[in-house]
Amino acid sequence: MALVLVAVVGLAGTALAAVALHNAEQDRLDRAVGQRTTLISQAISAEVSRYSASLIDMAAAVGAQASLQAAEFTAITAAVDRRRFPGGTGLAMVVPTSEPAALQAYWRRHGADGLTLRPWGPGPHRFAVLDKTLDETGSAAGLDLTASAEAVEAMDSAEAGHRVTVSRTYRLLKDRSLPHERRQPSFVFVAPIYATSPAAGDTGRFRGWLVLGVRGGDFLSEIVTEPAGDRVAVTLLDDGTGVAVPLATWQTGTPLNRDVPPREVPVRVAQRSWKLRVEATDRLLVGSEQGLDEAAWLIGLVLTALLVALTGSIVTSRNRALRQVDEATAALRTDIARREEVEHLLRQREKELVGFAGVVAHDLRSPLARIMGYADFLQEEAYDRLDDMQRDFLSRLRKGADHMRVLIDDLLDYATAENRSMAHVPVDLHRLAEEITRERACDRPCEVVVGDLPTVYGDPTLLRQVLDNLIGNALKYTPPDREPHVLIDSHLVSDGRWRCEVSDNGIGIPERDRASVFDAFTRVGGSENFPGTGLGLAIVHRIIERHHGRVGVDPNPGGGSIFWFTVPAGEHKRKSESQKQMS
Ligand code: ADP
Repeated sequence: MALVLVAVVGLAGTALAAVALHNAEQDRLDRAVGQRTTLISQAISAEVSRYSASLIDMAAAVGAQASLQAAEFTAITAAVDRRRFPGGTGLAMVVPTSEPAALQAYWRRHGADGLTLRPWGPGPHRFAVLDKTLDETGSAAGLDLTASAEAVEAMDSAEAGHRVTVSRTYRLLKDRSLPHERRQPSFVFVAPIYATSPAAGDTGRFRGWLVLGVRGGDFLSEIVTEPAGDRVAVTLLDDGTGVAVPLATWQTGTPLNRDVPPREVPVRVAQRSWKLRVEATDRLLVGSEQGLDEAAWLIGLVLTALLVALTGSIVTSRNRALRQVDEATAALRTDIARREEVEHLLRQREKELVGFAGVVAHDLRSPLARIMGYADFLQEEAYDRLDDMQRDFLSRLRKGADHMRVLIDDLLDYATAENRSMAHVPVDLHRLAEEITRERACDRPCEVVVGDLPTVYGDPTLLRQVLDNLIGNALKYTPPDREPHVLIDSHLVSDGRWRCEVSDNGIGIPERDRASVFDAFTRVGGSENFPGTGLGLAIVHRIIERHHGRVGVDPNPGGGSIFWFTVPAGEHKRKSESQKQMS
């Protein structure tokens, strides 16, 4: 789902960017076509004006001759060449006549040697009598221009209007002899010639026309090579008669860009109007801006693909992580279940073991009592008769038996702490502590202070055992050369329980052993010189657990240990602090 969303958003963004860029590019193309069109139409108009102006100048020069000779015509048109009139085929002076023979004789006399007029139709005729050839297609002298309706129409218009005219598009008479593929749509510029020489005495008389033949294709290509280049294609249409006739085209072979609409503008040429059509090619906008929309598509698609891949990998890794978490959770559940099973088994085994220890301890009691009885008897009745070695053996026997008695008592206490039925009555811990300190004999000077202790709910016998063990240990684990200072105190803790503490100034317990001292048969290194079975604190732990409390040991800041246990709060009787000095 996330992947589809990312792909859709990416593609939509890409499409929007591409459309925006495409539109911007279209705008730029459109503007560029417009600019080129203006440039080209201005260039054509300027050229046409130049042609017209030159023709007018030359016509005036010809008209100014009192009696024109061929040599003068040559001189007047000497500067004219293809560079001056791009596309030009030739410049001719055309004269009307109804008597070709007389005209031919006249011009032969005036320097046009070898002029042979070639009349077309019955006449009247319009003959090219003088000619300046501008290309390699030969001279037009002798041609009868009445053969071309377009030329006649332009000449009539020039004469009637006293102005330079441009003909309709047609194939020049001169080109009729050319191979078909070399013939081009062409036109002629026509300037009327009027006599202006006062010497001739016929000022203002019409003397003929100056006709400049121009091939459309050559004309256009010369003009637009620069402004069009390969950026646009150009078509010149002659639509003066209402039907657009192609006059010339310019195209370098670069494919056209069909997305940009062609521009069409009218171009005024003398009395006529041409139409200029400009079309963009694929090279119109060269450089970085071209094809930005395609680039946007490409970049957008690549980015979208990357985004989809990235999201895919994130989703996959997330799914993998979730799967791993699920697997780990399942494994943990199995582990917990197995652990609970093992714990249950262990508790069962421990129960059985404790029960077994209890039974064994109980059964050992009577034989031990007999051993101790006989040992006491030997001590009291036969001691004098024993030698030193026998006395030493007897002393060892009695010590071992005594140790065994303590062990059996502890084992029985440990067993009963687990299984014994429990009372749930108010227990005055203060009174219990005072009784214990009173009963416990100290074999050296010691200080035991019973502080503020509460009355709690629980089993009096078991709680006595707790206090007895803790106070006994506090006194026992103080080195012989130090006076024991023991404080039994309590305070209320946040969860509505009492925390009772027995602190001493004894040998203390290293941090690493503090968690294990409450396990059965655990004795901390350094306490080998103190008698003990390693069961007292395990009994305390068990009893406090049965009272739903917790046990622990902290180091006493002044040296020694603070053993503590928590019990549910009962009635709290404040006792005045009592202190017992024992000696
Ligand atoms: P026991 O005293 O019979 O060895 P306990 O279960 O009462 O057995 O104590 C376990 C061990 O904890 C002792 O062997 C001793 O190393 C350590 N211990 C208990 N109480 C103290 C104490 N008040 N100060 C220092 N070490 C103690």
